[in-house]
Amino acid sequence: MTEISETEGVHSQWDREHLWHPYTGTIDPLPTYMVDHAEGAVITLADGTDLIDGMSSWWCVIHGYNNPRLNAAAGRQIGKMSHVMFGGLTHAPAIELGKELLKVAPPNMHNIFYADSGSVAVEVAMKMAVQYAVAASGSHKKTNFVTIMRGYHGDTWNAMSVCDPVTGMHGAFGSALPIRFFVPSPSSRFEGEWNPADIEPLKKVLAEHSDEIAALILEPVVQGAGGMWFYHPQFLREARQLCDRYGVLLIFDEIATGFWRTGKMFAWEHAGVMPDIMCIGKGLTAGYLTSSAVLTTREVADTISRGEAGVLMHGPTFMGNPLACAIGIESLRMLNEQDMESRIAHINGCLRRGLEPARALPNVTDVRCLGAIGVVEVDKPVDVGEFQKKCVRRGVWIRPFGHNVYIMPPYITTDEQIAKLCSECVAMVAEMK
Ligand code: PLP
Repeated sequence: MTEISETEGVHSQWDREHLWHPYTGTIDPLPTYMVDHAEGAVITLADGTDLIDGMSSWWCVIHGYNNPRLNAAAGRQIGKMSHVMFGGLTHAPAIELGKELLKVAPPNMHNIFYADSGSVAVEVAMKMAVQYAVAASGSHKKTNFVTIMRGYHGDTWNAMSVCDPVTGMHGAFGSALPIRFFVPSPSSRFEGEWNPADIEPLKKVLAEHSDEIAALILEPVVQGAGGMWFYHPQFLREARQLCDRYGVLLIFDEIATGFWRTGKMFAWEHAGVMPDIMCIGKGLTAGYLTSSAVLTTREVADTISRGEAGVLMHGPTFMGNPLACAIGIESLRMLNEQDMESRIAHINGCLRRGLEPARALPNVTDVRCLGAIGVVEVDKPVDVGEFQKKCVRRGVWIRPFGHNVYIMPPYITTDEQIAKLCSECVAMVAEMK
């Protein structure tokens, strides 16, 4: 067996043989690069190569790496306790984080269920919706879900079932997944004209099947890993009205969109309509630890509690982990101390300017920016392995998915760093065959 050696450099043979990385095989896996450390917006590889991070490690590292304030918050909490079970016990970090979250959440949110990852938050939200619908309607038939195409909600079973049926994991799992109702993703662009036809398919499904549907689940305004699509907030306003008319709950998955990524603290603010259940994760702990939360109204929580089971049927081991909560509190403080609206608007300007030249490229079908997210859509699926080799040579870290090459940097990234991310991105897209 090969041992990891200190001098091995950027690729590890042992890793390649034994560690399973996401969305790649074991026979000829995509290349992986050995990270030594990361600081601010820079990831440093084992051979000393510096990469400017354009991914915030999949949306979560909002304040950058190795942040002294977050490190100190973690240290203080470790000195007291890293973990304690949440069944029958509680602690100040969970309470304080909960109070802070309710200050920034939609005003109708009242109860918080801490979970351990984004996917699990989605599972919990879906379980809440089913338990609520059964308790409220008295019918065991109202247990299905409707969602919009191009969505991504995570990799656990129910989360997969509401991911896009084409780009998601339905192909691999087929009939093993529960069958959901899908309607097209709204075609009206975030900054474009609202096309009233966009809401018609949802209207039809709810008119015909609301007795079978517990909830509509979607990512508000920005659909992330399912297509990096930014749609018109009017869809959410109309969806809210339809859900109310047909007695169906509305779940907003804000796991990717939360904590200012779209230019607002949470993306529901673009539409001004509140969900019944909301999932948050990723930026909740600024990328320090896995943790998530499901927020809901008092009505939903109390109806579940009055239902047949009398309790919400979920309770993960690491629920309300004190270390994650303590870091989450400090991260929220850091966000609250800044004018985040201006900061994200500034990053948005940098991304727009930097990615604009991509519009002129023959293989580029669209360039779009919202908040601290910039997307270049190309006419063919991107060869991720090849693209990332080029990234490492050029000193940036961008991981494309499907037809989209996208940049969502940590909020502390400098203008110069964003300019480099964008110019290298445009240059690499221009070189694609
Ligand atoms: N929901 C959305 C919108 C996401 O973007 C993701 C992750 O990318 C998830 C859920 C799943 O979160 P996790 O990977 O923490 O399970």
